[in-house]
Amino acid sequence: MHHPLDEGPSERVNKGVREMVDYFQVEGFLNEEEKGFRNKVRKFVDEECMPLMATHFDSGTFPMELIPRMAEMGLFGLHVDGYGCTQASHTIYGLVCQELGRCDSGLRAMFSVQNSLVMYPIYAFGSEEQKVRWLPEMARGRAIGCFGLSEPDFGSNPSGMETRAVKQGDHYLLNGSKTWITNGSIARVALVWAKIDDEIRAILVEARTPGFQATLIQRKFSYRTSPTSLLIFEDCKIPEENLLPGARGLKSVLSCLNYARYGVACGALGSAIACYKVAEIFARKREVFGKPVASYQLVQEKLVRMVLEITKAQLLTCHLGRLLDRHQARPSQISMAKLNNVREAMKIARTARDILGGRGILADHHVIRHLCDLEAVSTLEGTESIHTLIIGQDLTGISAFY
Ligand SMILES: Cc1cc2nc3c(=O)[nH]c(=O)nc-3n(C[C@H](O)[C@H](O)[C@H](O)COP(=O)(O)OP(=O)(O)OC[C@H]3O[C@@H](n4cnc5c(N)ncnc54)[C@H](O)[C@@H]3O)c2cc1C
Repeated sequence: MHHPLDEGPSERVNKGVREMVDYFQVEGFLNEEEKGFRNKVRKFVDEECMPLMATHFDSGTFPMELIPRMAEMGLFGLHVDGYGCTQASHTIYGLVCQELGRCDSGLRAMFSVQNSLVMYPIYAFGSEEQKVRWLPEMARGRAIGCFGLSEPDFGSNPSGMETRAVKQGDHYLLNGSKTWITNGSIARVALVWAKIDDEIRAILVEARTPGFQATLIQRKFSYRTSPTSLLIFEDCKIPEENLLPGARGLKSVLSCLNYARYGVACGALGSAIACYKVAEIFARKREVFGKPVASYQLVQEKLVRMVLEITKAQLLTCHLGRLLDRHQARPSQISMAKLNNVREAMKIARTARDILGGRGILADHHVIRHLCDLEAVSTLEGTESIHTLIIGQDLTGISAFY
């Protein structure tokens, strides 16, 4: 039977979500530039991205038409000074991740990988020729990149990777595979981590390279809008000049992951806010036993718990952005934000789904989409266990990884 609550859920939800959760006035800590940039992205998300996402989630496709728009808005190259990019602060980068994550984690992932995991390492570790060749193209959204670190047998422990490049005259022969690679099938360039003489190095592999194959991983129940791929390299002939000269060892890998993990923490906060707002609006409108759901103490306790955790995550994330801007953030602090924000976002999404009753499983209300996506978010960029071990090691000085 048709119910007034089911009328145009996307529009109603979008309208409500625009009034953001800001219990501790974190907004007051942002300067005009930060608010301006964030507001521009917020408008883009509400007007252009939100209407597309439920359908793309259903079909398991990425809304490619958003890429040129994101490029026009200057969203690609936020860590890069010059080369056609407009560098922005880490705080701004985090705010963009939050807005995109409020819409869809797959959308946020495309942005994060392009910025933190491909453009940043090219900028930080690449040769001048590599920067000139790739960064302007990537800033314009004409080239999408992917980051190949994880392998079928080495995820949490990438140092054991088996992908290898062997020198042969003026080129390298690359062999191996990378899995779970975000953007893999839409990328024009893959930044691939491989061992050369037992040292981990980064290599730029163009999609059209003979012997390189990117296959979409199908039948995912999470990260459905994100093109996650398996990359296979069979005797790929890579010109010597495609090696990033400055990227050496796991330290270089981790420096890219720091920014990406901060982005994930911010994105998860966005997803949590989206779920909370849907639940709050619904609870005030929906009547059960003759009263709005929100009038029951048990429901209010749930709403309070959600806002409490959102507020703590906002303060943590805002402060982390400031530390990053001052180059004072430590990797274990980033781990703490990733661990906390994703863990709490998952609980918030589950609670929101519960408050929505049966409607909670409908894509049009968005909550189930976030809930499914957060399952992948909890694993990628380091699982909760791995971040716990990183913080544990920082606290005690003792590694408990193995
Ligand atoms: C949707 C998606 C997108 C991704 N995108 C990318 C990408 O773009 N590029 C890329 O390189 N990778 C990507 N990944 C891979 C991701 O980084 C890995 O999945 C992640 O690092 C975990 O590795 P794994 O899946 O092999 O799990 P495993 O490492 O096999 O872990 C399995 C379980 O063991 C636990 N575990 C592992 N070690 C320990 C320990 N020492 N103590 C206690 N518990 C432990 C883990 O916490 C986990 O619960 C993506 C993954 C997903 C799901």
